Amino acid sequence: MAASPEAKFTEETVLWVKHHTPKLITFAISRPESYRFAAGQFSRLGFHEGEGYIWRAYSVVSAEYADTLEYFAVLIQDGPMSARFARMKAGDTILLDKAATGFLLPERFADGRELVMLCTGSGIAPFLSILEQPEIWQRFDRLVLAHSVSHSDELIFNGRIAALREHPLVGEHAAKLTFIPVLTRETSGARLYKRLPELLKNGSLAEAAGFPFTQENTRFMLCGNPEMVKDTFQALLGMGFAMHRNRIPGQILMENGF
Ligand code: FAD
Repeated sequence: MAASPEAKFTEETVLWVKHHTPKLITFAISRPESYRFAAGQFSRLGFHEGEGYIWRAYSVVSAEYADTLEYFAVLIQDGPMSARFARMKAGDTILLDKAATGFLLPERFADGRELVMLCTGSGIAPFLSILEQPEIWQRFDRLVLAHSVSHSDELIFNGRIAALREHPLVGEHAAKLTFIPVLTRETSGARLYKRLPELLKNGSLAEAAGFPFTQENTRFMLCGNPEMVKDTFQALLGMGFAMHRNRIPGQILMENGF
């Protein structure tokens, strides 16, 4: 069943699939020339299923200028899309909705000198894309990425984040980034071992970042499980920060990753 030209999606090819752990995969698909997205946005990916389709949202990991589209997926037990991903291989066909969506966009902050990106699990995906954009390194004096997971084997992007130092578009700005891995169910291989809201409230996140968080300079982006997003937002409200809205500027942007 090929997509008709007027369809809202295109049929793409899976280029590669990497299984990092039994539950974590990354994969890339072909990118149609017409596909546009902003770093921080998500795609809708799908498969034909019987007479219909299955569709789910996935944040783009790749840079805006990349030739292919990369994604990071957590495979959920008994999840219909996860089951499809578990058996997906290079050469398979995957459906890509023509429109990328999402408002987790750092350019929505008109000011601020420090960008603090807080995420759990697959919520790191949009930030990996954002960190591939040269503007972000020029625009902010400091970049902080705190990735909270349960166990250390879920920190699969440490090498990729370290490699940003050699990225030709990052260059002299590389030292601006502080990466803070956070573990919640294990105490090895990370600097911090509590949930992000608690680490904000007790000051250890700012200490690990190396600077105080202020309303004047610090901007926060949150992405991950709905509970973390809610609790982290509440913690930030308690510290005097506010949601950013286009007409009422604030310091917080957030997105529920599922
Ligand atoms: P579903 O029936 O869709 O989900 C079953 C349950 O699994 C959910 O109710 C939830 O409790 C849990 N769950 C769903 N996704 C996750 C997850 N990522 N980590 C932990 N628990 C989860 N998923 C990704 O893996 N990578 C992404 O980049 C990503 N980006 C998203 C962006 C947005 C805006 C939204 C709304 C969701 C995103 N998701 C992402 C979730 C994704 O759309 C699917 O829900 C997920 O892959 C599971 O699909 P499923 O059909 O297997 O199970």
